[in-house]
Amino acid sequence: MAEEIENIAAVDIPQLLSAQNAFFETGKTLDVAERISKLKTLKKVIESREKEIAAALFADFRKPEFETYATETALILSELKYTIRKLKKWAKPQKVKSTFLNFPSKDYMYSQPYGKVLVLAPWNYPFQLSVSPAIGALAAGNTVVIKPSEYAPATSQLTKEIFAEVYPEVHCAVIMGGVETSEELLKQKWDYVFFTGSVPVGRIVAKAIAPNLTPSTLELGGKNPCIIHDSAKISLAAKRIVWGKFINAGQTCISPDYILIDKRKKTEFTEAVKKEIKAAFGEEIKKSPDYARIINKKNFERLQAMLEGQTIITGGETAPVDNYIAPTLLNEPSLESTVMQDEIFGPILPVLTYSDETEIEKIISHYPDPLALYVFAEDKDFSEKILQKYHFGGGATNDVVIHIANKNLPFGGVGSSGYGGYHGKFSFDTFTHKKSISKRATWIDIPLRYAPYAGKLPLIKKVMKRL
Ligand code: NAD
Repeated sequence: MAEEIENIAAVDIPQLLSAQNAFFETGKTLDVAERISKLKTLKKVIESREKEIAAALFADFRKPEFETYATETALILSELKYTIRKLKKWAKPQKVKSTFLNFPSKDYMYSQPYGKVLVLAPWNYPFQLSVSPAIGALAAGNTVVIKPSEYAPATSQLTKEIFAEVYPEVHCAVIMGGVETSEELLKQKWDYVFFTGSVPVGRIVAKAIAPNLTPSTLELGGKNPCIIHDSAKISLAAKRIVWGKFINAGQTCISPDYILIDKRKKTEFTEAVKKEIKAAFGEEIKKSPDYARIINKKNFERLQAMLEGQTIITGGETAPVDNYIAPTLLNEPSLESTVMQDEIFGPILPVLTYSDETEIEKIISHYPDPLALYVFAEDKDFSEKILQKYHFGGGATNDVVIHIANKNLPFGGVGSSGYGGYHGKFSFDTFTHKKSISKRATWIDIPLRYAPYAGKLPLIKKVMKRL
């Protein structure tokens, strides 16, 4: 594993911000053709450094090249391609229908960049989660400062180099550093803050930016339930869950946190999971090139402690030498245990059971609104009921994680899993203020609204009823 980054940034943050401010004021970020041209260059640079991105993620936590391509580089390239294709249209003032009340007028929404954007990113998808919000912010015409995670130093360093090849720091800067650097950044006045990370740090961020009423997106975490109904295709469910839970060694904000399965299907499911783990990673998982490691000692020890006192169905092996934790299934841990109190964020999957829907409700409502929820069922009425009933950021039926791949869907949380959503057009919208403009005609001036009002009430009532 690579060394952690120094806590303090080697940059004068207030000076950089004032330079970004001055750059923004010149209006240079507003030229849409220039924004597109820069994004095209960014795409080229990322394409040319694809191997280096894979190597950096491997250095940070032995992330397999396939996973890096599929869940980081390819997603970013596709986001760039889509944004480049659509940006001209998105950036234009959007004409909307006028109403009877402001007749005659032509009404528009103008998309105006907020100004200076701060992106604070986590370590678990260190490239994707730093670059993806930045694409939206830059496409929208903002200046950007990205603070990638100190826990993925190789990827963070490469991200810095990539942006430096395309953007001057006054337009987009990547600042390396840890918590103290984040704190220093949060003391500055931003026009938008985009934070991805844990719920406790999300609270710190929200509090820090509250005095300036800075608009923000918080992409946080939570305990994502994965419900498996009696009617589900169990072996397919096991295959998809093994993929979505153990990709990135379970360090995925939308991976299933725990299974909630119909009691009668538990054994069939756990046997199927064992088979799928073997099919994916072989007999000696530690030697598999397709299985990542835990990011650092701190998280390794946190996860190891979650295993203490639990009944293990499969897995449970750990190796501190390279932060290895085997794909692990736990048998019905108590809701009071650490593994069921905290977000797991690692390759440990508790299997809980239910006998009826009241038991599902009891467990799900025990936790704050999660970032994701999954339901496996052939019974469509059952899955629809679950989808409608519970609050969660997003999810899938008969699969896990995959909803993140569709840029036509906004990605984000609700309640304590965060607020705001991004990807595709939603990213552009996140980083622009929508100015409402009514362009009024002057060839006529309808007198109805003006005082004196005497005798006008019946007419205004009639008019308002037509709206
Ligand atoms: P984290 O909250 O510890 O760190 C995220 C960022 O915040 C880092 O850049 C870090 O330097 C900074 N930070 C840490 N402590 C800070 C403080 N006291 N003040 C200011 N800044 C601080 O999160 P993490 O461990 O990097 O990532 C894991 C968490 O992120 C999990 O909870 C996971 O669910 C969540 N996550 C959410 C999403 C999403 O899209 N919703 C995606 C990935 C991860």
